[in-house]
Amino acid sequence: VIDDRVVVVGGGLAGASTAIALRRAGHSGPITVLGDEEHLPYQRPPLSKAVLKTASGIDALHVRPAAFYAEHDIRVRTGARVVAVDRESCTAALEEGAALPYDHLVLATGTRPRPLPGAEGCLELRTWADALALRAALRPGMRLVLVGGGFVGLEVAAVAAAIGAEVTVVEGLDRVLRRALSPEMSAHLEGVHREEGVRIVTGETVSSFEDGGVVLGSGERLPADVVAVGIGVVPNAELAAEAGLVVRDGIVVDDELRTSDERIWAVGDVARFPCLISGRDLRLESVQAAADQAVHVAGRIAGTVAGPYRAVPHFWSEQHGRRLLIAGVAAEGDEAVVRGDPASGPFSICRFAGDRLVAVETIDQGRDHLAARKLLAGDTAALDRAALEDPGVALASLVARPVTGRA
Ligand SMILES: Cc1cc2nc3c(=O)[nH]c(=O)nc-3n(C[C@H](O)[C@H](O)[C@H](O)COP(=O)(O)OP(=O)(O)OC[C@H]3O[C@@H](n4cnc5c(N)ncnc54)[C@H](O)[C@@H]3O)c2cc1C
Repeated sequence: VIDDRVVVVGGGLAGASTAIALRRAGHSGPITVLGDEEHLPYQRPPLSKAVLKTASGIDALHVRPAAFYAEHDIRVRTGARVVAVDRESCTAALEEGAALPYDHLVLATGTRPRPLPGAEGCLELRTWADALALRAALRPGMRLVLVGGGFVGLEVAAVAAAIGAEVTVVEGLDRVLRRALSPEMSAHLEGVHREEGVRIVTGETVSSFEDGGVVLGSGERLPADVVAVGIGVVPNAELAAEAGLVVRDGIVVDDELRTSDERIWAVGDVARFPCLISGRDLRLESVQAAADQAVHVAGRIAGTVAGPYRAVPHFWSEQHGRRLLIAGVAAEGDEAVVRGDPASGPFSICRFAGDRLVAVETIDQGRDHLAARKLLAGDTAALDRAALEDPGVALASLVARPVTGRA
């Protein structure tokens, strides 16, 4: 109903985007976004990229300026932590005591860094404050150890190396980004980092954190001025679990992004959903998922969208001036076919589950990436695998053109 009260828990990209999309979809009822950080909703991707290089303020990162929310009658409350959801009375209780009634509740509580026992004094990178602390610590010649070879760790490694720091990345698995990328792409990125002076140690864990460095399982001691840890995230799903919603490494939603309570939805990093594109159960940590899921849920609440959520997952990363773009989602073990020569410039890697295209990883190949998103949105079973594997065939040429009738 157009005048329903919508309460959004979580003031990140997914929460803010839900509120913005609700107004765009014509929802005229009260919208309140409750975020426990001290800032208006902001974009996190620059925290491991531009923010570490330049002395900028947080304003440039805001999803929208304060005036936008005022103009669109969206109440955004910062420093407002929701501590309980009462599904009987349909209220969200704030730490400070007040309880807000809702007709629709959207959970957009995101994720937090996975803690590593013993690493309590180390830096991490999730918030604006974390980025400021890291930026202050980075200087030429300093020794930085990054525990975890995920996207955030590798992006920080790239920036730190460019500043002139001595950087070592310690990854517990046998290659960086193993869960996200093909072995070929991991190997390519490891090579790029090494060329740029970053030491990458794989198949190693930190056995102890000491003053002035870390000790690896092998016994090697890595001296460090700063140690930062990025070993993945955990979803902020406790609120949902305590409210009796189904939670399994994230808040479980159906293909419309609705939780086990029909008045409660979940979007963004915290939502585990059945992905209709990949046929897999996913919880995505990406701007694309946060933004597209927000638009879908807003449309469902406003009544302008019908049917399930269906969007091609995509993601980007920047390391040492290379732009990695991923369309779709592959699982470990999915086959990889390289198109082009990684040693000599832009290239793409098609990932196949059986004979079906499930993802395309590209380096500096924006056109292939956009084409891949279109291919993955269509009938992948109908694609010609030989053509997909042939670097001489542009992926864009495989995108079905709409059939045009004769004038
Ligand atoms: C350093 C970094 C770099 C990244 N780079 C990229 C990139 O290059 N490309 C890409 O696609 N993605 C990137 N991401 C991921 C992307 O930023 C996330 O997927 C996106 O922020 C998810 O948005 P969200 O709103 O779901 O969650 P979040 O951004 O985590 O926001 C959730 C908010 O809810 C708040 N909250 C939690 N519980 C409560 C509560 N009980 N009451 C009130 N508030 C609460 C949290 O404090 C937080 O402010 C990056 C992330 C990080 C940290």
